[in-house]
Amino acid sequence: ATPLSIMVGTGKGARAGILIRSAQALETAHRLDTVVLDKTGTVTAGRPALTDINTTGSLSEEELLALVAAAEANSEHPLAAAVVAGARARGVAPAAAADFESVTGKGVRATVTGRRVLVGTSRLLTEAAVPIDGLSPIAADLANRGRTPILVAVDGRPAGVLGVADTIKEDSAAAIAALHRLGIQVVMLTGDNARTAAAVATQVGIPRVLAEVLPEHKADEIRRLQGEGRRVGMVGDGINDAPALAAADVGLAIGTGTDIAIEAADITLISGSLAGVVTAVRLSRATMRNIR
Ligand code: ADP
Ligand code: MG
Repeated sequence: ATPLSIMVGTGKGARAGILIRSAQALETAHRLDTVVLDKTGTVTAGRPALTDINTTGSLSEEELLALVAAAEANSEHPLAAAVVAGARARGVAPAAAADFESVTGKGVRATVTGRRVLVGTSRLLTEAAVPIDGLSPIAADLANRGRTPILVAVDGRPAGVLGVADTIKEDSAAAIAALHRLGIQVVMLTGDNARTAAAVATQVGIPRVLAEVLPEHKADEIRRLQGEGRRVGMVGDGINDAPALAAADVGLAIGTGTDIAIEAADITLISGSLAGVVTAVRLSRATMRNIR
């Protein structure tokens, strides 16, 4: 493309709330045939709220919540913030935690008032040899409704399942339909569990889901799609997404996301709406049409 057409395209983008970092990004976006969307904070608002408390052992709901909130108080994960806020809203004060340990993509471990508390995915509990047969049906039911189940073990025994819900951004479904009309395949990529991801994907019309992908493997999934001969755009908001954004042919960061994601991306969508992805592709197509 000529420098002038790039300048015009970049200027139009800026006025539409789309910051394009390089001429190359504007030139490449028109060739994308696949767009990969992170779930939390990208398709959804990324402000999860605590909605369910199920106890399966001898603890009361308040006791369970106090232990979990204490373990989560040290975590920077959005799910942890939802649990801590949910406990506070219910008047439950978290106890003091020691030996806090975060397990990336899986959850947290801590000692709370002398008890070993394990909070996170079914994988986290299974790897610690906690039997989860009693928790799994509760978790599956939550996940089928699009909520993220948080499994809890206390002193090596199953103790309960919390549910956290995130709302879908109101324009996500329309943007995904518009991408399909542009001939682009849409894929969801998330660390969240497969059932939750599938429920959310169904609600917004995404036909293909890659779930339970650990943070360090997100970029591998992008490279695998590229290995199928695809030109891949990746849209994400989190620290977890940065390597995948960098690996994609075009990385698009949600402007309300973390700085690390924005730095790794080629394009920033200021408003955070997925409509910006559609606008970016259209802008690139128009720019490349004008100059060839
Ligand atoms: P995402 O791709 O949705 O941002 P992550 O890779 O950060 O997900 O985490 C994957 C999954 O691990 C979460 O959906 C959740 O089930 C579990 N998890 C991670 N951190 C925590 C935590 N602090 N508390 C509870 N669960 C967690
Ligand atoms: Mg995210």
